[in-house]
Amino acid sequence: MTETEYIRPQSLEQALSARAEHPDFTVLCGGTDVLVAANKQPVPAGMIDLFGLGPLCGIDRHSDGTIAIGAATTYADIINSDLCRRELPALVAASREIGALQIQARGTIGGNIGTSSPVGDSLPVLLAVAAELELASHKRRRTVPYSEFCTGYRQTLLDADELIVTVRIPPRSPGLMQFWRKVGPRRAQSISKVMVAAAARTEGGRIAEIRIGLGAVADRPIRAYQTEAAVVGLAPGHLASSAARAALADEITPIDDIRSTARYRLRVAQNIVAHFVERLSLPAARV
Ligand SMILES: Cc1cc2nc3c(=O)[nH]c(=O)nc-3n(C[C@H](O)[C@H](O)[C@H](O)COP(=O)(O)OP(=O)(O)OC[C@H]3O[C@@H](n4cnc5c(N)ncnc54)[C@H](O)[C@@H]3O)c2cc1C
Repeated sequence: MTETEYIRPQSLEQALSARAEHPDFTVLCGGTDVLVAANKQPVPAGMIDLFGLGPLCGIDRHSDGTIAIGAATTYADIINSDLCRRELPALVAASREIGALQIQARGTIGGNIGTSSPVGDSLPVLLAVAAELELASHKRRRTVPYSEFCTGYRQTLLDADELIVTVRIPPRSPGLMQFWRKVGPRRAQSISKVMVAAAARTEGGRIAEIRIGLGAVADRPIRAYQTEAAVVGLAPGHLASSAARAALADEITPIDDIRSTARYRLRVAQNIVAHFVERLSLPAARV
């Protein structure tokens, strides 16, 4: 029987050295994706276990207002963080809908990013809040906008010797509202048919800034850049929501699969984005 070597690094340096020495080993964090897939994969040569590794855990605010979330931070930690509840309500709302309590206690944001599924629920939020990822290898550190990280269906630009270290979220501009909506076959424990995360701000009664992240409507999580451009400068309300619907129909081409149809996904994405754009006119519009 093939044996799997197990490495549990005690520091980030040890983790990066292990990754450099064993690029063929599986990186394990909460294991809620890795272990589900294990039965269908060849036995791995080894595992590098990052779950609970101090430098990758926790949520901090830097002096410039940036929020840094360690890659091994669990959804439970995000949900229980006052800072996230205040500044990242869309991420908290998404985290609350990921699996149930057991998965939220074990699953991590870095694992969601590492799997890079088009139905990863935290991923549209990372697009809406303009998150960046800090990646590290034993040789270098680099920061990449999350919007560039996914390069195709479950493909990312992570090199074989790299780890995801931190998710950085820039300071929220005053008045920026956040929004999150997941549509699945049932209210809880469901795999998404469509997800929409958005962040926007109005100035002088017009939409001044908007970012819309979508999940489950393409081979990867996507930003709806054309739809954003179509509504900037408009007053929130019926005209803006109609413009958003039309732009979205041109911009996305969802597919039919076992979970839903292309037609349903487009219609639902349009309805949710239109709802958000209309709600921007309300004083307390939030998630
Ligand atoms: C019952 C159940 C329900 C679920 N429900 C949802 C849901 O509603 N929504 C949703 O989005 N997901 C859901 N998932 C999927 C899963 O829980 C999430 O994707 C979770 O975030 C994975 O995190 P993890 O720490 O368990 O990752 P792991 O399984 O440990 O790793 C996942 C991938 O990321 C890589 N990885 C992990 N950390 C790093 C790192 N620091 N650097 C580089 N690569 C890394 C691993 O190598 C692996 O490829 C569910 C899973 C189960 C079993």
